Amino acid sequence: MDKYGVIGYPLAHSISPNIHNMAFSGLNIDASYTKIEIPTDSLKHKILQLKTEKWSGFNVTIPFKEKIIDFLDEIDPISEKIGAINTIKIVNNKWIGYNTDYIGFIRPLQSEIQHLKSALVIGAGGAAKAVVYSLIEKTTISTIFIINRTRIRAEQLAAEIEYSRRINLNVIPLSETGNVAQSIELIVNATNVGMGMLADETPINIPIKASNSIVYDLIYNPKKTKLLRLAELNGHKIINGLPMLVFQAEESFKIWTGKSFPEAVVRHYL
Ligand code: NAP
Repeated sequence: MDKYGVIGYPLAHSISPNIHNMAFSGLNIDASYTKIEIPTDSLKHKILQLKTEKWSGFNVTIPFKEKIIDFLDEIDPISEKIGAINTIKIVNNKWIGYNTDYIGFIRPLQSEIQHLKSALVIGAGGAAKAVVYSLIEKTTISTIFIINRTRIRAEQLAAEIEYSRRINLNVIPLSETGNVAQSIELIVNATNVGMGMLADETPINIPIKASNSIVYDLIYNPKKTKLLRLAELNGHKIINGLPMLVFQAEESFKIWTGKSFPEAVVRHYL
């Protein structure tokens, strides 16, 4: 039996095992997928242990999408540009890293990508890197604002990410968010704010006047974060993280097995 797992902390909210195990059984693939919760200060120790065991691949989630790069033998070129990894395939004991978040993120925006001109990305971690890459490479957006609790991390993201066209990429302080959010077309929450212990919080307050934007929260549990509930009340179109979760999972599954998800899996979760 092939063994797969998701590496992260915390993982109580994760439904990745349900999705992948349903897909494996739907296609009669002899494989299993489990949660591997690793306290943040034990990553090295645990990875070295996993390397002595027989695994076929992993997903990587908060807070390890960047730190995991130190433990890989190879990285696919686009994922290297993004600077964050959410999928590992193990071939002949070699750990090969991929990013499928950037593909999953854009799928629910397909009908809008030719019209959008501006976006505000909240966050500067592994998911935010994939979001910014995807917005630059897969849409016509010409201006992106980034805010993050730790501003230096957003500045590093803006400085390091490699992209193929000119774009206005601006890191702004939290205090300016209100002004910018008034005229922005797409707001993306790529932080943990809205889930788990932070379920009663929002990363920004949506200005009441600015309606008709799309507010996209990468969080999928809860399905409607406080940010999305406020955005909906104020007339914005909302998207949660569930479609992204399913589509990034399917791309990981393709990397591991060469197969798409059975229709039933996609129908069940979306
Ligand atoms: P990460 O690398 O650990 O980054 C976490 C981000 O959240 C950082 O920008 C961090 O800011 C910010 N943050 C954390 N706690 C905060 C707080 N109390 N107040 C303000 N900001 C805070 O994690 P990640 O992998 O990028 O994931 C980020 C989010 O995206 C998570 O909610 C995750 O579930 C979601 N996600 C969803 C999908 C999906 O398929 N739907 C895929 C990927 C990620 P600092 O830099 O200041 O620490």
